[in-house]
Amino acid sequence: HMGPQSVDREVDSVCPFCGVGCLVTFQVRDEKIISVKGREGPANEGRLCVKGRFGMDYIHSPDRITRPLIRKAGVAKDVALLEGHTDWRDVFREATWEEALDLATLPLNRLRQLHGPKSLAGFGSAKGSNEEAYLFQKLVRTGFGSNNVDHCTRLCHASSVAALLEGVGSGAVSNPVRDVAHADLIIVIGSNPTANHPVAASWMKNAARRGTRIVLMDPRITDIGRHAWRTLQFKADTDVALLNAMLHVIVTENLCDETFLRERADHVAELKAHVRDYTPEAMSVVCGIPADTIREVARAYATAKAAMILWGMGVSQHVHGTDNVRCLIALASITGQIGRPGTGLHPLRGQNNVQGASDAGLIPMMYPNYQRVSDKSAQDWFEKFWDTKLDDQPGYTVVEIMHKALAPESDPHKVRGMYILGENPAMSDPDLHHARHALASLQHLVVQDIFLTETAWLADVVLPASAWPEKTGTVSNTDRTVQMGRQAVLPPGDAKPDLWIIQQIAQRMGLNWHYVGAHEGVAQVYEEMRQAMALTMGGIDWARLNAGSVTYPCVSADDPGQPIVFHDHFPTQDGRVRLVPASLIAAAEQTDADYPLVLITGRQLEHWHTGSMTRRATVLDALEPAATACMHGAEMGRLGLQPGQRIRVASRRGHVELALRQDNGTPLGAVFIPFAYVEAAANELTHAALDPFGKIPEFKYCAVRVESATAA
Ligand code: SF4
Repeated sequence: HMGPQSVDREVDSVCPFCGVGCLVTFQVRDEKIISVKGREGPANEGRLCVKGRFGMDYIHSPDRITRPLIRKAGVAKDVALLEGHTDWRDVFREATWEEALDLATLPLNRLRQLHGPKSLAGFGSAKGSNEEAYLFQKLVRTGFGSNNVDHCTRLCHASSVAALLEGVGSGAVSNPVRDVAHADLIIVIGSNPTANHPVAASWMKNAARRGTRIVLMDPRITDIGRHAWRTLQFKADTDVALLNAMLHVIVTENLCDETFLRERADHVAELKAHVRDYTPEAMSVVCGIPADTIREVARAYATAKAAMILWGMGVSQHVHGTDNVRCLIALASITGQIGRPGTGLHPLRGQNNVQGASDAGLIPMMYPNYQRVSDKSAQDWFEKFWDTKLDDQPGYTVVEIMHKALAPESDPHKVRGMYILGENPAMSDPDLHHARHALASLQHLVVQDIFLTETAWLADVVLPASAWPEKTGTVSNTDRTVQMGRQAVLPPGDAKPDLWIIQQIAQRMGLNWHYVGAHEGVAQVYEEMRQAMALTMGGIDWARLNAGSVTYPCVSADDPGQPIVFHDHFPTQDGRVRLVPASLIAAAEQTDADYPLVLITGRQLEHWHTGSMTRRATVLDALEPAATACMHGAEMGRLGLQPGQRIRVASRRGHVELALRQDNGTPLGAVFIPFAYVEAAANELTHAALDPFGKIPEFKYCAVRVESATAA
């Protein structure tokens, strides 16, 4: 309702929510963002979803932390407080930056001296900039002295990345989302793009209208199913059965692209032999999809002129997540559906910068650009580059670090001190009872965030950080496009840019870091990071990025960037794709008489991840104010439950109470709960079993019991 005259200024930036990476213009009046416009970006062309358009006032929430906070002497780290309504003043007192930074860092130094570098760990954030991710991992590696650094990629696509690095030599997407316009057929598997990548979903719907056939494969039928040519609602946990049966059809009906396989793939014979037993008839019994449908879809995919596969966490968050993705790589490879427009493999990245944070080395087994810490030549290079000695042992991953925090005193790798920047493991980790106790048991916890998250409640020192629109930095979206976010408003009170805080901690750990220039030296940090990533981002200097988005790989100033990769070779050692057969592995926890239903967790359109931002965004909170579980009407009828009533959902690890909503897209025998609500935290219920390769937890499958809350 406001004319342009009522805006003080407009600032071009990027949406801070999902990995689609829509470009935005923030409209500022009286130092507040009063509205957001979609800008012409490669991923969105002016489009925005409800979060990007109406979700930005979280930054002006009265809940923002505006002063450094110190835990009061004698106040225990009580995990029960997380669900109560305690006043923060009962737990923390305000402090100056000087005092807080000293109190944050001195105990870290002491623990390192007493117990060695591996007694410390750090979680960085996929919601910050590339520069913050790069500097944070550099701090852990060179200041803490180990590779105990990770972030939420471990909870979303770690298994996809493991399979992709093994198979095609790169963890990123091969084709951008908007290539769906060039595809005859797209497979959308284990993904609810309308809720989680809404603008990406809008391109899929546009393509469908122009004749692209969408094949939705998912245990939950979500909104995109309305646009699908075929919907395969397979039984949860049976991805490999369905995909191997498709491979079987393609192999036995001679639909393989033999030229492609001869010239560009390894271990073809093993794969073909392996899938021989996975007949559609046999696998139909396992996955619940009729054999004829499996045949029809396999033929359509193999014979399409161009076909693309896009997937989400329904694929990755299983103990067989890596195997699921191995099957997808095999499908694309044996049919030659890769390396051309409208083909390829696209793991839809969740957080706005999970691609960039991973690229920047915010992972325990790799330096920037996926160079393995165990590779001597990579270690030598970074030792020289950073002028320090580095640990050649991979660090622990997110869930492993939580286990290590609860390890016995005698464990030489017991984690005792942590620095957590912008992540909320007290909500996002599986089996929260365990994770929260692990965080509470730390001798020293420093949390840097914009709100008193559930994790911050357990901290010794809380450092008030900046929200995305309050700082300048770059992010890399799901398409590998690097984009510039610019400061639109100042952080509130004494809150500081994250890049400044990281450098302050580093200086107190003995590192002589003084990045210079505007916004805490962000351009200088970027240029240092770019040197470490010459093979992907060497051609994208700060000035170029300031002028517009660039998609890597881009190795020189005149390289326009490459939205589509793998035209004629893969970035593996021999340039060929490696096919890896997968066998059936069941979920780590099965249903039984006591816990007869499957719990599927996920997200919803209005709320982002652990809810710390979106539940403080007025419009989004008004749209979805309360936690709800979804069940099929027939399942509700069987259990004598009514829509709208409160239910109690219990697993072997905990229980939650929340309202029930009817959703006939949720399969029979299952309940779906979004994990954004602290008052009914879905991860109280989930199981911490890990995929052995990606170390990702099995968020998509555990056993629960559902009953009326009043009867319980
Ligand atoms: Fe933001 Fe993603 Fe929505 Fe685009 S689709 S506006 S990036 S949340």
